[in-house]
Amino acid sequence: MDDIPGAKGIGAVVIEKGSEGFSFGKRDHHMGFRGVASADMYFDDVEVPKENVLVAAGGFGKLMDAFDLERCGNTTMSLAVAQSAFDYVLQYSQERRQFGKSLIDFQAVQLQIAEMKMRLEAARLLLYRAVVNAEKGLPSIAESSVAKCFANEAAREVTGKAMQLMGGYGYSKEYPLEQKLRDAWGWGIAGGAIDIQKVNIAAALVGRRFNQRAK
Ligand SMILES: Cc1cc2nc3c(=O)[nH]c(=O)nc-3n(C[C@H](O)[C@H](O)[C@H](O)COP(=O)(O)OP(=O)(O)OC[C@H]3O[C@@H](n4cnc5c(N)ncnc54)[C@H](O)[C@@H]3O)c2cc1C
Repeated sequence: MDDIPGAKGIGAVVIEKGSEGFSFGKRDHHMGFRGVASADMYFDDVEVPKENVLVAAGGFGKLMDAFDLERCGNTTMSLAVAQSAFDYVLQYSQERRQFGKSLIDFQAVQLQIAEMKMRLEAARLLLYRAVVNAEKGLPSIAESSVAKCFANEAAREVTGKAMQLMGGYGYSKEYPLEQKLRDAWGWGIAGGAIDIQKVNIAAALVGRRFNQRAK
């Protein structure tokens, strides 16, 4: 936004689709998230009217604050995909019969269902804590990072277990589990990768930000 190098020069503008010089690259083909279009954006000498400046240079911290909220949205969607995988497999494990009894009657299956349930409840409570403590402001960086990170890992684990519990059908595109696993993986990359959330958590614990830059 000006000549200041690094983060201090970053701001935000609104650019309308169709503006001269603004174009999209080819559509990305992701493992999941097939319903969400994604592509590189190119800005070639695009002229931006002054009234489209949302955040001026020096407002990088303000932009980063928006992630405190985004993390909670990401947590919600991670949780939703994991919960739907769990609901599906809980039903399936009561209907599918092997060796003369339902899958749920095998103790090894019961333990997995219980572990999935615990992960889901913990993720949901961490999300509620971050949101409730925000009151009328933004959630804290620490609580939203803990919630996102936990939910992202839980979603990968729960959808993976759910898929496994469906055996060959879990791996088949005829059933919904493989899609849930693919979608679940993406939430741990989108909105700040899992490792970055862990860096946030450690930073909050010691009360300072860690410099991620080479210099
Ligand atoms: C499904 C999906 C949706 C997305 N939606 C959007 C969107 O709407 N808008 C948008 O702008 N972007 C979006 N992204 C991009 C996303 O924000 C980035 O992919 C993500 O922040 C990681 O950045 P990167 O891909 O450049 O990975 P890199 O920065 O190259 O990192 C790769 C890996 O290296 C490790 N790593 C990197 N830096 C550090 C560090 N400092 N400390 C510890 N570990 C580190 C992490 O394990 C990380 O996963 C989306 C991505 C996905 C997968």
